[in-house]
Amino acid sequence: MDTPKEKTGWSDQELEASVDAYLKMLSLEQSNQTFKKADENRLLREGPLSKRSASSVEYRMQNISAVMEQMGLNHIVGYVSAKNVGTGIGNRIRKILAEKDIEAFRKETTRTSQHFTYRLLEAQTPQFDDAPEGILNPNQTSSATIRYSRARRITDWVLKQSQGFCEGCNQAAPFLCADGLPYLEIHHVKHLAQKGSDRPSNAVALCPNCHRRCHHSTDKDQFTLSLYGKVTRLIPE
Ligand SMILES: [Zn+2]
Ligand SMILES: [Zn+2]
Repeated sequence: MDTPKEKTGWSDQELEASVDAYLKMLSLEQSNQTFKKADENRLLREGPLSKRSASSVEYRMQNISAVMEQMGLNHIVGYVSAKNVGTGIGNRIRKILAEKDIEAFRKETTRTSQHFTYRLLEAQTPQFDDAPEGILNPNQTSSATIRYSRARRITDWVLKQSQGFCEGCNQAAPFLCADGLPYLEIHHVKHLAQKGSDRPSNAVALCPNCHRRCHHSTDKDQFTLSLYGKVTRLIPE
């Protein structure tokens, strides 16, 4: 619940910092590691959410749980979904989540639908020939603003490199999106949740099958290793 002094709307940076902290906690939860919600809450308020109260941050986390649920993703057990997420906030959270590598959080039953689409639209505008540098430690919440602008460039640049072909199996993207661009997904070879970097040397464009293979198959380790052989820009981390 927002206090009166917090009447100002949340900025994209604030929302993204919340989403990043949320996904970090969810990764920890899914790998059975301990974390304290109160500590994460405090860290956020010492950094990018300095204008917000503890209860306000807590409520935002419940909003994220609700959106995760709507998207067919697992959510943090300790954050009960807030049922009344405003459409505006809900859509903005959804948009931010779609830019993240969220495949590992997808519930088994919904994995075939609701895939997040990366668009090649911006990738097709020839604005960069050199590989963007990217982010070594993308989990640092203090760099939310910088990361946001750069992260998009990484996504776009990697998709452009793929030229519409999956970098795992070399097949053409399975379909074209409504805007006519090939559908592929970005995967971080060393997962962001394992502190992998958000750099071209750690990101590949994959078809949905190869992407799921990286996360869920019995040969996921082998398959991941094979990516380093196939995609020369990758550097093991
Ligand atoms: Zn593939
Ligand atoms: Zn992935």
